[in-house]
Amino acid sequence: MANSVPPAVVRIDGKEWVLPLEVSFRTVLDVLAQVMPALNPLPTAFEYEDEDGDRITVCSDEELTAMISFCHWRNRHSGRSHPLSIYPKAKKKKNKLNLEVNTRAPLTSAGKSNPSSSESMHSRSGSFRRANEKTALVKLISEGQITRQDLQYLEILGHGNGGTVYRTFHQPSKVIMAVKVIALDATQEEQRQIMAELDILHKCDSSYIIGFYGAFFAENRISICAEYMDGGSLDGYGAIPEPVLGRIIVGVVKGLNYLWSLKIMHRDIKPSNVLVNTQGCVKLCDFGVSVQLLTSLTKTFIGTNAYMAPERILGGEYGIHSEIWSLGLSTLEMALGRFPYLPEGSKPSSLVPFELLQCIVNEKPPTLSLEHFSPSLIEFTQQCMQKLPKARPGITALLVRLGLNKLTSTIE
Ligand code: ATP
Ligand code: MG
Repeated sequence: MANSVPPAVVRIDGKEWVLPLEVSFRTVLDVLAQVMPALNPLPTAFEYEDEDGDRITVCSDEELTAMISFCHWRNRHSGRSHPLSIYPKAKKKKNKLNLEVNTRAPLTSAGKSNPSSSESMHSRSGSFRRANEKTALVKLISEGQITRQDLQYLEILGHGNGGTVYRTFHQPSKVIMAVKVIALDATQEEQRQIMAELDILHKCDSSYIIGFYGAFFAENRISICAEYMDGGSLDGYGAIPEPVLGRIIVGVVKGLNYLWSLKIMHRDIKPSNVLVNTQGCVKLCDFGVSVQLLTSLTKTFIGTNAYMAPERILGGEYGIHSEIWSLGLSTLEMALGRFPYLPEGSKPSSLVPFELLQCIVNEKPPTLSLEHFSPSLIEFTQQCMQKLPKARPGITALLVRLGLNKLTSTIE
């Protein structure tokens, strides 16, 4: 029966409102302000609860569309109109990079507790509150299959080793996605295995990991559809001020801690694989979840990269310690605004020269100068970039250093 789905209804302060068909985010804010005239400051966003009781923030037309889809989905399941309570929210001001920052407490020194920074890191307020929320959008889209016909490619966001990333419009959900298209030399069986291995991404549920909508093969190309991050990757920001960088490192470490707890190694930590958005979220992408995908990629690309730890360049054992080296090197690069082993203006390419690899293996690692950076940031990068893998901090030490010791770490 067509049109039998009950309409989306929201409840604001006990009053119910049937959402008009083409309602915009702006209109909902206006209605919120009218229904609750005492609100001060005026709301800039609002929240609702998903089926798990998690609070989801809506601050754009896109997110409103996702909320309405969620209402329809709930109504379909219950067969009746089920009002969804929404709660106003006022956002704090953002800084230049659109990231919320605790400017007083970037990184804590080892062993010293820093209440103001750890409090802000654990804070459930402001836009970082989203860090603990599942996006309803990801869940809704991933219930269906994405096909090539549903996608409208809008522009190229960038090229990497073997792949091109497009900003893409997904017609059925009206969601903007980032779609990475990679040409792959993979048999049907290998393709099937890649799809099966990528499936774990649907289960990844961390606000520090890029949302995954789905993947599909068309001819010899795989398209991986992920959450679009409108701030792009952190290789594009030059030297990032230390207080902002402190916040970014916290996000990266939370993301890594989450992956490691699932026994997933990232394998490609570098600034271009750390993405930000204008909500102030920091998320990791391009981690090595599919062994078969990595194997197929190495058929066309010889996998050395300039962020590899010395032991990995030498073909030694790969583990969390090697990831911590890459974290340290990425931090150094983001602080300086350039890749520290190369002169100003040069970026590491996919073909890493032998001399550069030799330098990483044999020379003393680069450091930051006390003239421009705090002792705690300098110490953090030095510790992460110790030549001896075992001398680098483990997860627990890393979490303690960043004042995140309340997060559970499951592997050492
Ligand atoms: P590599 O292939 O070694 O990972 P890379 O990370 O530079 O190198 P891609 O992963 O192909 O290359 O990404 C290319 C660029 O596309 C990135 O640098 C980033 O700016 C942009 N990009 C990737 N994913 C997203 C996304 N989800 N949202 C917004 N921009 C993205
Ligand atoms: Mg990448």
